[in-house]
Amino acid sequence: MKSVQSIALLLLLAFSSGNAVAFEIDGSKWIGAKALFYIDIPGTAGTGVSFNSAFADAIREWNSKTTFQFSMVQQNKNPCQNDGLNGVDFATTHCGNAFGSKTLAIAVRRLQSEVLGPPSIVQVDIVVNQNEVFNVYDGRLIQFGIVGLDLKRIAVHELGHALGLGHSQVSQSIMAPNIGNQFQLHADDIAGVATLYGGLSNCQIRKFNFGLISNSLDSSDCTVDKLTLGDSDSSPIDLYQFDIANTTTFNFAMTSASLDSVLLIADADLRVIAFDNKSSKQCNSTLNTTLQPGTYYLLANTYDRQVNAACSITGAYQIKTSFSSNSFLTFANSESLTGGPGFGAFSAGISANNGVSYGNQFKSTDAIDIRASIAIDSAHQGKPGFIVVAAMFDGAIHLLNSSGKFVIFDSSAGALTKTKSKILSAQENLEIVTKLIPASLGINNIVVDFAVGYGLDTNSNEVYFHSTPLNLTVSP
Ligand SMILES: [Zn+2]
Repeated sequence: MKSVQSIALLLLLAFSSGNAVAFEIDGSKWIGAKALFYIDIPGTAGTGVSFNSAFADAIREWNSKTTFQFSMVQQNKNPCQNDGLNGVDFATTHCGNAFGSKTLAIAVRRLQSEVLGPPSIVQVDIVVNQNEVFNVYDGRLIQFGIVGLDLKRIAVHELGHALGLGHSQVSQSIMAPNIGNQFQLHADDIAGVATLYGGLSNCQIRKFNFGLISNSLDSSDCTVDKLTLGDSDSSPIDLYQFDIANTTTFNFAMTSASLDSVLLIADADLRVIAFDNKSSKQCNSTLNTTLQPGTYYLLANTYDRQVNAACSITGAYQIKTSFSSNSFLTFANSESLTGGPGFGAFSAGISANNGVSYGNQFKSTDAIDIRASIAIDSAHQGKPGFIVVAAMFDGAIHLLNSSGKFVIFDSSAGALTKTKSKILSAQENLEIVTKLIPASLGINNIVVDFAVGYGLDTNSNEVYFHSTPLNLTVSP
């Protein structure tokens, strides 16, 4: 996170008829890599193509060759209006100001500052200089018998600005500052979009653990500027991805003895939807949020320069997660013990109130039920197989045996301890623990990560299980 936020507002980009490193970006982009344009401009080119369809073709050029997706509504919206809508029109002036003598069109971006990274683009308007004569054609710019300039390549260029590209110094690119023979996207234009919208691929995406995460932030980690691009925020950041299938309320607590912790939650498009503003919490950070079903990133971050004399901007941290939902947690991904593809779909929950709510933080005096459900892969249903339940605690893996006791897993013993062997049904429901009161066993503090899995008798060393464990945290 940047220690000081700056706000940018308008950026004017003119395309002129009048050159080099490659594409240029300042990092501003559309969250979600998509934008809707309102285009209903009058007129048909000398070659018989309507100017609207030239714009539609320009949109298809970007949509078909890059990850960015424009959509178009055939409706006129005044491009000089600050209305949150992306409009295109011909005009003799640029919203009252004279066009430059060689200016063919101007794209204006409206930006909104973001918590993380450079400002995002929230509106783009394109005004085409009506004082010029336009046509629509592919190929060389100057052709015998063709009067007027090709509006389609102008539209492709302006849409490049609209999605966030600056001018390129590659003279054959569509984003070169001056109109030329290039009428399609060049590899440089495509690379520009891939870079601008490809920040997630620059960072390691870690598995989220719904219980306790221990890690550190330092110079070996991804940084905000690598993730969001074009920004000067060099603070290290860790990304943890998770999915929830049901509305879930979370409390995340990031603690550190030395690191100035910053916690953020972003959606699948990296749109920050909650963050901790850190009022008087020493080096710690907490976040309470209720999330709808979807994919999210928990972001562990700090500042790009020291702002708190008591806290450093590198160091070890822990994130403790508490959650509550009225349904089981559904685990999106399954994996295989031997490293092959995962099968089955897993869900599980821990409740101390007969399933009214499920969560992971319990008191040692609570009577706890732990239940899980496995949707067996259709190819495995009706076959002889087995169920395995693992519990990780005290630094060891424990497996639930057929008598309902957890025994330490001994990898040298050969066969896995199975919870039960049976002909596999479509849905296997498990009661792992029923009305267990930890204090009655002398347990007042424990963190356990559970996982359930299943396998087939024909390959008893292979187990399919969920990648993210089910956390249980017991405290007095
Ligand atoms: Zn331009």
